[in-house]
Amino acid sequence: MSAEAPNLVAGEERPPATGTWLDKTRPTDGTPLCRVARSGADDAAAAVESAREAQPGWAARTPVERGNVVRAIAELLRERREEASELVAAETGKPLALARGETDAAVEMGLFVAGEGRRSYGRTTTASMPHRTVLTLRRPVGVAALLISFNTPLPNVAWKAFPSILCGNGSILKPSEHTPLSALWLGRLCREAGLPPGVLNVLQGLGPEAGMPLVEDTRVDLVSFTGSASTGRLLAEAAGRRLAKTVMELGGKNALVVCDDADLDRAVEWSLASAFSNAGQRCAAASRIVVFDAVYDAFVERLAAGVDRLDEVGPVISEESMERILAAVAAAREAGATVLRGGERIGEAGWHVAPTLVEGVAVDAPLSCEELFGPVAALHRVRGFEEAVALVNDSPYGLTAAIHTASVHRAMLFAERVAAGVVVVNAGTHGSEPHMGFGGVKSSGTGWKEAGVEALDVYSEMQYVNLVVDPGLA
Ligand code: NAD
Repeated sequence: MSAEAPNLVAGEERPPATGTWLDKTRPTDGTPLCRVARSGADDAAAAVESAREAQPGWAARTPVERGNVVRAIAELLRERREEASELVAAETGKPLALARGETDAAVEMGLFVAGEGRRSYGRTTTASMPHRTVLTLRRPVGVAALLISFNTPLPNVAWKAFPSILCGNGSILKPSEHTPLSALWLGRLCREAGLPPGVLNVLQGLGPEAGMPLVEDTRVDLVSFTGSASTGRLLAEAAGRRLAKTVMELGGKNALVVCDDADLDRAVEWSLASAFSNAGQRCAAASRIVVFDAVYDAFVERLAAGVDRLDEVGPVISEESMERILAAVAAAREAGATVLRGGERIGEAGWHVAPTLVEGVAVDAPLSCEELFGPVAALHRVRGFEEAVALVNDSPYGLTAAIHTASVHRAMLFAERVAAGVVVVNAGTHGSEPHMGFGGVKSSGTGWKEAGVEALDVYSEMQYVNLVVDPGLA
């Protein structure tokens, strides 16, 4: 495993022009893992230049050829599954089994996207003028800045880099400063699988220093971001000032509703998985569990027992994150909430937060409204369906929502009434797949969907070609 994460620009591994590095520690025990290039504006400008130079040659290849390269990347990733997963486990602290599942998800995304090289369907249509046909063609956007979160590092890269590559763009990937190694590793893998130098560049460093110069660079045509709503707001403002295409995949405060006719054991299992897997560091994590009064006591008793049975959920990403999460739970407790489980650090090494269940939190309290991105779920008791729907919608976010019920009528009405980009019936709040579009409403995103064929709309521009035939020339 490399002890250094430099930039990858024009196919070369380069130290930062700033000459400065960041220290990256292991979340499991706080020991040093590697040093990370602390890039600045000059490094960002070089990465943009590299993407610009490589893009026209890459776009000149057919979509089928580009898809074949994406397939080769995915197949090589599958071959090196263990190495990739170990790297992710080291830099995030997540259990190896979870990291393996994420590597598999990134492979699946690659295979799905590769196939789009042979589909990439457009439309043909009629027109009011005689002998005129209109058809749609997909064109690359140009240079794409891909800024991502740390939480599922390889799928986060796969969701953006694969469709961007397929669509013929030159890209600059700006990974989280917390997950520099897997991004660099995947950048190297892309080269090995046949991606020409400069088509995918990796720019390491801190958001304001390395990321913002990309967003402000007028040579960058697309800003595609996955991260928190607060950062998203800053980036959208900066990109909006120069009218760049801007795609924001942001946070969530997702609710899982347990109705009086739910299968309680199933609801418990999905609540545990949704709230605590990946230490709650999922945009689609269930951080609010909304339970009908009639089954509240029985459900909460089983859920608390389930928390007691949980295997180690893994640390959160940083000490700062751990402190922020613990402070939020302490504040809720001070405001009168009851911490049923957790609420404290586990051990003294690393950034481990015990899976936490809190009840009696006011609907408008920070713990009910703000995304914590940690293993914490607030329990809410409601009288019935109407109150549950109102509570689900009483949030600045609208990413995912789940309901557990035996009634198809109730489930469909829930889908109709909740403001969420994804609705799930009788399962967890997370669980997207490569062929399904994903994205939220309200402060969870700007309306674009990632994954699925919808991703092609992000990474390409539709061009309308009007063809007028002259019968006299036939
Ligand atoms: P973050 O917003 O702190 O950082 C995300 C990325 O933006 C990182 O690469 C970071 O370096 C960069 N960044 C930070 N500040 C910046 C600035 N001022 N200018 C330019 N770049 C900047 O988020 P995070 O803590 O890495 O990730 C957690 C968030 O991501 C949560 O809100 C989570 O819900 C969200 N998320 C959303 C999705 C989705 O698909 N909707 C998926 C995963 C994570």
